Amino acid sequence: MNHDRNEKIFVNFFILTTLFYSAIAETYSFSNDEFDKNLHWHTTNYKKCLNQFGNNCYDYIIAGAGTAGSILARKLSDNPRNKVLLIEQGYWLSLNPIVQNASQWHLVRLDPLIERGYVSTAQVGFGNRSIPLPRAQGTGGCNSMNAMVFLLGNRKDFDERWGKIDGWSWNDLSPYWDSIQETISPTQLDPKHPIMHKLLKGAIEIGYKYNPNPNNLNSEQGQGGVSARILMAKQISNNYAERRSSWNAYIQPILPRKNLDILVFTQVTKVLFNKNLQAIGITTYNVGKKEYVHFYSRKEVILSAGVFDTPKLLLLSGIGPCDELNKYKIKCLANVQGVGKNLQDHTFIKIWSAPLHDQETPLPMNIFGMWGALAIEENGEYYHGLDVGEINGKKIIQIYAETFHYKSRGSITLLDKNPFSKPVIDPNLLSNSYDINKTLHSIKIARTFLSTKTISELTEDFNEINTPLFHTNDKKKLLEWVQQNIKSDYHPSSTCTMGNRFQQR
Ligand SMILES: Cc1cc2nc3c(=O)[nH]c(=O)nc-3n(C[C@H](O)[C@H](O)[C@H](O)COP(=O)(O)OP(=O)(O)OC[C@H]3O[C@@H](n4cnc5c(N)ncnc54)[C@H](O)[C@@H]3O)c2cc1C
Repeated sequence: MNHDRNEKIFVNFFILTTLFYSAIAETYSFSNDEFDKNLHWHTTNYKKCLNQFGNNCYDYIIAGAGTAGSILARKLSDNPRNKVLLIEQGYWLSLNPIVQNASQWHLVRLDPLIERGYVSTAQVGFGNRSIPLPRAQGTGGCNSMNAMVFLLGNRKDFDERWGKIDGWSWNDLSPYWDSIQETISPTQLDPKHPIMHKLLKGAIEIGYKYNPNPNNLNSEQGQGGVSARILMAKQISNNYAERRSSWNAYIQPILPRKNLDILVFTQVTKVLFNKNLQAIGITTYNVGKKEYVHFYSRKEVILSAGVFDTPKLLLLSGIGPCDELNKYKIKCLANVQGVGKNLQDHTFIKIWSAPLHDQETPLPMNIFGMWGALAIEENGEYYHGLDVGEINGKKIIQIYAETFHYKSRGSITLLDKNPFSKPVIDPNLLSNSYDINKTLHSIKIARTFLSTKTISELTEDFNEINTPLFHTNDKKKLLEWVQQNIKSDYHPSSTCTMGNRFQQR
């Protein structure tokens, strides 16, 4: 198995099967235990599959109706010949007004029916703190809870890291970026609003180029530079903006659709394989009915359960590092080292200015509850979110200093073999000195921004900035402050190997 290749992993949905299977074993029995013993079920024939498994037979089964799962369900069911099943463990979030109201995005996380309460193990690089790693359940997944910033990936990342895998270069993916932008129709905030204009000007003063639209696929400039933020939200009236999640944009408009069945409050607990290691179905648990049901697929089982639950499901199903599965007495079907490994994330640390002179400064497009500018370093190494916030009752400029391309790598492992247990998540953040130095450098950029003529004219004395340790030259003390205050920016990724090479057991 090629581990280098495994490093070049990015997506967290994992297409498990090839297109067609051979023949249905006529003698197959339905019991779950029997199924495990009889891993030799095949089908090429939808009619046979239907005869054998009735309405529980589909062409495609998609586990997880989040950001990726919603788009896949729409695209696959656009072909009326495909019968598609989309399964989600949460509920219909399109019925929840707080989820739909863009300006209330920060409240969604407080709903325990949506936010799943994952936390990390104690992080050495974070002064032994455990940190929250929020994940949403329900239709739209994290796209129904996130901060709605709409920024395409970096061209260089695709070309240099994943472009070697067929179909994953920037140019290969550009038609999809185009199509997503058309469907989501994100909104760019007004760069001419007085305070936004100043933020942009301050960033230009320290060397960023103004970028009118970092998502413009035809621009020479690509993503670097500073721009007004672009959000997945749509202004409906003067005082209401609606979230544009992938669920709202892709699934809501086509409901009901005859060839797409959607199950909510239903958790996928296991993927079922035949002896050729083709995924042929899944086991589910319905929370309301308290019952287990099998569903079978003639073509593909697609796992889009997110960065933590997709590897968890694979491990529970016997796909992963065998030595790890043996510990839980899970029969190892394929020794795939990449499952649950290579976890990466971004972090941010918040820096704020001295109070603004003009405490009446009106905020632009406040309706989104989120606005401001984004400064992205030309090579996509740093990202600074700029806006106005409040500290101790005073308006200040705040900066979210964020770093990309970290070298630290973490992991997802099982707590036990119970599908209802949370996975053990160790992002292992800031475990690498390269990442520590990068984080300190991101603070330096923020400091330079606050000392520019444009920004210092807006605020009280630069020396009065009360971000702790802002003025210190003591690297050790600064690092301690960073370790106590840095957070995940909730962009974990890369926990499933992409590709189809593994050792069958
Ligand atoms: C608070 C927050 C703010 C963020 N802000 C931004 C932002 O501004 N811009 C941005 O681009 N990104 C942002 N992100 C990141 C982004 O939202 C995620 O990277 C992205 O939504 C992940 O998509 P996904 O399809 O991989 O997983 P998800 O969207 O998480 O979907 C996975 C779905 O699978 C379901 N599921 C899981 N296990 C099972 C199972 N066993 N059976 C059935 N269903 C299951 C889950 O309930 C969920 O609905 C943010 C994330 C968070 C948490």
